[in-house]
Amino acid sequence: MDAEQLRENAHKMVDFIADYYKSIENFPVLSQVQPGYLHNLIPDSAPHHPESLQNILDDIQEKILPGVTHWQSPNYFAYYPSNSSVAGFLGEMLSAGLNIVGFSWITSPAATELEMIVLDWLAKLLKLPEDFLSTGQGGGVIQGTASEAVLVVLLAARDKALKRVGKNSLEKLVVYASDQTHSALQKACQIGGIHPQNFRVLKTDSSTNYSLSPDSLAEAISRDLTIGLIPFFLCATVGTTSSTAVDPLLALGNIAKSNGMWFHVDAAYAGSACICPEYRQYIDGVEEADSFNMNAHKWFLTNFDCSALWVKDRNTLIQSLSTNPEFLKNKASQANMVVDYKDWQIPLGRRFRSLKLWMVLRLYGLENLQGYIRNHIQLAKHFEGLVAQDLRFEVVTPRIFSLVCFRLLPPHNDEDHGNKLNHKLLDDINSTGKIFISHTVLSGKYILRFAVGAPLTEWRHVNAAWEVMQDKASALLARLSI
Ligand code: PLP
Repeated sequence: MDAEQLRENAHKMVDFIADYYKSIENFPVLSQVQPGYLHNLIPDSAPHHPESLQNILDDIQEKILPGVTHWQSPNYFAYYPSNSSVAGFLGEMLSAGLNIVGFSWITSPAATELEMIVLDWLAKLLKLPEDFLSTGQGGGVIQGTASEAVLVVLLAARDKALKRVGKNSLEKLVVYASDQTHSALQKACQIGGIHPQNFRVLKTDSSTNYSLSPDSLAEAISRDLTIGLIPFFLCATVGTTSSTAVDPLLALGNIAKSNGMWFHVDAAYAGSACICPEYRQYIDGVEEADSFNMNAHKWFLTNFDCSALWVKDRNTLIQSLSTNPEFLKNKASQANMVVDYKDWQIPLGRRFRSLKLWMVLRLYGLENLQGYIRNHIQLAKHFEGLVAQDLRFEVVTPRIFSLVCFRLLPPHNDEDHGNKLNHKLLDDINSTGKIFISHTVLSGKYILRFAVGAPLTEWRHVNAAWEVMQDKASALLARLSI
């Protein structure tokens, strides 16, 4: 690494990125390219001779950006947000600059210690129980994604249960979650060797706004106990992916506890909102949880990837995931004086990700972070009001955070055509390139999702988005009536 070369080229790159942000609204939000488009534009093999940065930047502009879906566009309202910010970007840049690999404390003491401190800070902002802090038996760790988070806790819970009931009982272990739980849990079960028939996907419906009913959990557990199975893991969600449903943590946690089960709370998206006192209620009952996860890279201004996981008993994770090869042995680890995060995660290597979260927490401060979340929720509320005023549409589930689930009502109440109609409307809207929204299915109905959460989104973008949707709906309905 030549320092002067870095200075010169990195300035060019920062200029390129700053210009990108200046012009971000000029791109179609959802990339409009066809599969395989890039093969025709990029040579078949790597160059023999070095090329100039300028040539590469030109290629990025002409060939790569058309194939980018602009998650940072203020007109991005799909899935859930994946925030970037100057603070998060600077932290990411610093992490790339130092480029350490902090798998054990000794490989970069600051990386481990800052991660512990920053996750304690965030736990305190969320008012998580003290048991989750690194000062006790618990602690926080940054995983790449919520999927990795649920996998590592499932493995820890599995091994803890097997210790109790005997190694040969893997086939009897049962996992519980609602049908709204993210598919990451199913993947974790597949990797964790849970028998496919022992993954209980409990049905939800509109009567509970798609949250998991404690009664249905209790019934499922008691049915399994009577046939000799062993309930061991419950995953509840605060802010489900389809509709932001909130599972009742306290009641569910009590059931899990009385059955000796591990209780995991997935608050990947909505966890961020819980730094505001008025939204903290949605994680009431987290006191009963063994682990809690929220993605700072979703709605907390921290560039991807940064998924914060806390556990009450770090030894359970360590017992499942630790290895101690000769080539990694060192005095601090051997003396058990330090945290070695390699034993809290799947990979060995890990980046210095706490830098970006630290930057975000310090450069914004709690006050501004709360304002950020509240503003998005206000925007979503405004959008919900706009939808409610147009009688051709309906809001499908009550909005809790910054996601609005809605749909175009089929003319003449012809529900057979409702799904096709909304599917077509989604395509028509997204093919304009002006905005990007996504969909889900609830109770068999095809639903449109409008998720506010991109850092650059303002009132005018929400109003303009609604105009696009109304125009496309009018055109679609006019075509149908011909
Ligand atoms: N859990 C919930 C509630 C989510 O909404 C998502 C993604 O949107 C995930 C888990 C998976 O997140 P990740 O991509 O970090 O694995």
